[in-house]
Amino acid sequence: GGHGVDIDTSIGIAVAPDDGLEAEDLLKNADIALYAVKTGGRGNWRFFAPAMEAQAQARSALEQDLRHALPAGDLDVVYQPTIDLDSNEISGLEALLRWNHPRRGLIMPAEFIPVAEDTGLISEIGEWVLNTACAEAAKWPASVRIAVNLSPVQFKDHGLVDTVKTALAASGLAAGRLELEITETVVLQENEPNRVTLQEMRALGVTIALDDFGIGYSSLSYLRAFPFSKIKIDQSFVRALGENSESAPIVRTIADLGRSLGVPTIAEGVETPAQLRLVRAAGCKEAQGFLFGRPVPAADVPAMIARRKAVTVHAA
Ligand code: C2E
Ligand code: MG
Ligand code: MG
Repeated sequence: GGHGVDIDTSIGIAVAPDDGLEAEDLLKNADIALYAVKTGGRGNWRFFAPAMEAQAQARSALEQDLRHALPAGDLDVVYQPTIDLDSNEISGLEALLRWNHPRRGLIMPAEFIPVAEDTGLISEIGEWVLNTACAEAAKWPASVRIAVNLSPVQFKDHGLVDTVKTALAASGLAAGRLELEITETVVLQENEPNRVTLQEMRALGVTIALDDFGIGYSSLSYLRAFPFSKIKIDQSFVRALGENSESAPIVRTIADLGRSLGVPTIAEGVETPAQLRLVRAAGCKEAQGFLFGRPVPAADVPAMIARRKAVTVHAA
């Protein structure tokens, strides 16, 4: 139909006699090797190794457990503040998922979000996070925003805009207080359907922030293709401030770029006063990091906001 289609190939290999003597065993082990290629980024080949079987089993156990996590009430949302660097007050909080596994204890999103994405469970989980976070934020002062991360996989759901609309309506949260954080994967390549979805979200009045900017492709063309309301500078640059001489110019350049485009920048991962000084000097509008506060349970947020206000008043 005149459209180009990119395909890639992943190959898993099993060899007799070590990996099996029966066709069934060889195929099963080749499949395990193929699975290892796919989880490692696809478009490659691997020979079967016995350790892969244990990994595949662990992964499939995690998958099984994750299916029950939401109904069982084992997922939780914690909230981490972002600070406005002009007023020094809390400008918003970011909702971050946690999984309290009944046997394994706390599991961080870096481990289970990819599994949720591969299995499609992220749609249901993401919707729950959105509803939970909006309902919580509706109890906070009106000047405080809520940021929610959206997975690129959620953009494949046709109902995503409606999900956002419903979360706003059910919570009574003003659309202007909701910030959706997306990564470049959503806008990578000329992706017309995703662009339309983002525009529909903006039309609702919500803010769209570009997360983890500076890693990956960070193409300037998609800053033009879609008008983001905020750019979050990836924490790897902020963390290296002071120790790595290249990071300061990079942070400054992204902040300058944001300023000339009229898009405020926020620095993630600020842990030390020295990093804060450099981030301020670079001209970032907001900052987030352990220096200001770690993610906390919903119940602790109001006290955190009040405490920060007291600090600000005191400082002024
Ligand atoms: P992100 O959206 O870039 O979130 C920031 C991550 O950096 C969080 O990790 C946060 O705890 C951590 N962080 C913030 N300040 C500091 C600091 O000063 N030092 C250090 N070392 N780390 C800091 P977390 O909670 O483990 O989340 C990791 C990633 O998982 C998030 O990165 C986001 O991409 C994803 N994620 C979390 N919750 C959700 C969710 O509800 N939906 C989706 N789709 N993804 C989520
Ligand atoms: Mg984020
Ligand atoms: Mg980030």
